[in-house]
Amino acid sequence: MPSSHLLIPGSERSEFHVTPKRIADIAPDASSMPTLALAGVTREGIPASPGIVIGPVRVLRMEVPTVSHGGIIPAEEVEAEIARFHEARAAVREQILRLQADTRTSLGEIEAQIFEPQLMMLDDVEVVDGTVSYIRENHLSSERAFEWRVLEWEAQWSHTAHPMVIDRINDLKDLQGRILRKLMGLPEPDLSSLFGTDEKVIVVARDLTPSVAAQLSPHRVLGLVTDEGTRTSHSSILTRSLHIPCVVSVDGLSGDINDGDELILDGRAGLVVINPTGADKQHYQELDFQIREWEQELLLLAHLDSTTQDGARIDLRANIDLPGEAEDARSHGARGIGLFRTEFLVVGRNALPPEEEQYRAYRQVLQAFPNEPVVIRTYDLGGDKFPAFLHLPKEENPFLGWRAIRLCLDEPDLFRGQLRALIRASAYGDVRIMLPMVTTLSEVERSRALIEETREQLAAEGYDVSRRARIGAMIETPAAALIAESLADHVDFFSIGTNDLVQYTLAVDRGSARLAHLYNPFHPAVVTLLNHVATVGLKKGIEVAVCGELAAHPLGAFMLIGMGIPSLSVGPAALAEIKKVIRSMYQSKAREAVVSLLGATTPEEILRILWEQLRSDVDLKRFGGLSNLWGSG
Ligand code: PEP
Ligand code: MG
Repeated sequence: MPSSHLLIPGSERSEFHVTPKRIADIAPDASSMPTLALAGVTREGIPASPGIVIGPVRVLRMEVPTVSHGGIIPAEEVEAEIARFHEARAAVREQILRLQADTRTSLGEIEAQIFEPQLMMLDDVEVVDGTVSYIRENHLSSERAFEWRVLEWEAQWSHTAHPMVIDRINDLKDLQGRILRKLMGLPEPDLSSLFGTDEKVIVVARDLTPSVAAQLSPHRVLGLVTDEGTRTSHSSILTRSLHIPCVVSVDGLSGDINDGDELILDGRAGLVVINPTGADKQHYQELDFQIREWEQELLLLAHLDSTTQDGARIDLRANIDLPGEAEDARSHGARGIGLFRTEFLVVGRNALPPEEEQYRAYRQVLQAFPNEPVVIRTYDLGGDKFPAFLHLPKEENPFLGWRAIRLCLDEPDLFRGQLRALIRASAYGDVRIMLPMVTTLSEVERSRALIEETREQLAAEGYDVSRRARIGAMIETPAAALIAESLADHVDFFSIGTNDLVQYTLAVDRGSARLAHLYNPFHPAVVTLLNHVATVGLKKGIEVAVCGELAAHPLGAFMLIGMGIPSLSVGPAALAEIKKVIRSMYQSKAREAVVSLLGATTPEEILRILWEQLRSDVDLKRFGGLSNLWGSG
């Protein structure tokens, strides 16, 4: 059985954990849905780069070198050992700068920036001084001292499941391998020799460091699968730039597979089939063909309006994590940006990002959308996304702790710098400043006051502040949803972050695999809150948007439109599919569905009502990505 989850294309961990059995309950004619009776062993992961490929496996085992035990040096060698460590750092800096320059030439500036966190870690005081003090005080060799320091950092970070932090650990490991190889006199792995023959292969690895990913050649590598990793990791970003299909987080695959085994890799659905039969291969070849046809159709859709059959115009915008993704969003038909996450500017950094760098990042997105709204979220830090320079205290419950707007209001240097950059960038377009994790009215009032003060300061310095950025609150806590009516008097818009709203409403950690079956955005409690916020927005005349993953789910989008929500924001990969749903559906039917589902008592009942209203208008079987919607047959 290939898949037991309801998959949402383009989402981070794309599953709402609706089992096929429950789908069969929801959709009485599920027997007519596409079924995959695969004979090969199928394993699920996270889709990281789209495309279907079939080919032989090459397992890459690129471990960090093992440092031998012992490693104690005589006192008189301490200074020389410290010098040796600094020489290794200098040599590794040269290596990374070379790789960065090559990547800039072959792939571009954004991809080259991927090596910045490693260059910064190389100079990080905590890493450098920590290592030096282990050499000086404990008489450890450079290898041992550096390894200890890295292990300490890793331990500090490894309690988290957050993609952005996991990504930094991967950068750190990349750097660790380089420094240790340099200190131990080992050569850097030569990728061209790893591939030996001219045969094209699917590379399987435990994880891939950005340095290795940047060297993958699409001429030799058909696809990539890793046991670990996230969709936002630097390696995943690179595979997308290289157009190499990729699935990450396929637990333990590299240990279960051998060189020469055959694999089907479906980078869009996020799954692999090990040693497929002829019938499996034929099935996937046909699917590949259908998806390519479908993608051609989607390109045509990009320029069409997102208007329902009965004339309701929906603003369909994109969620992006990096400025470079704005162009992609535009070419996939986004009418603006509904969520630009800005944490990439600070996570993994050891100093506040310069205002100029922030300003350029925001301006880059506005240049892609000069005439459309660009909603930029202020730093959503804390929880488990923390820049080293903030020295966050250890908290018992970080997700209920010092985070997002709470943290920004307490750290005026950080917040003011971001606001200055945002207000300066607003001269280039319709910037909308969005405050994350709001729970009280005073957070909005204090933020507004700071924004106004910053604007006046910039005006006094001679900047153009004539375009006033709108200010909005994210509704991602039950508290914010329940006080929406009073919040609405103080903001220009709401954007519902369903990813967090579900977690806080249901008291279910959104990253917990064990609790994943309880994380359900169609839970009646969540649906009631969503409907309340939508109703308040309509009554108060302020825009309500949804930027959580629920908007990227066909039944979710249908429901939200039925609640009267006029704006949805989804990942670029889901844009065309959601546009297709919008263009095929009737808002009147969605409204009827919402009226009946508000009395429902279970998520299954809600899904069934939505499905029954939508099915006559939307041929879900036609959706390349949505063939996944129904799991297996
Ligand atoms: C959300 O919580 O729904 C959201 C969009 O923000 P993030 O996923 O970045 O927490
Ligand atoms: Mg959130």
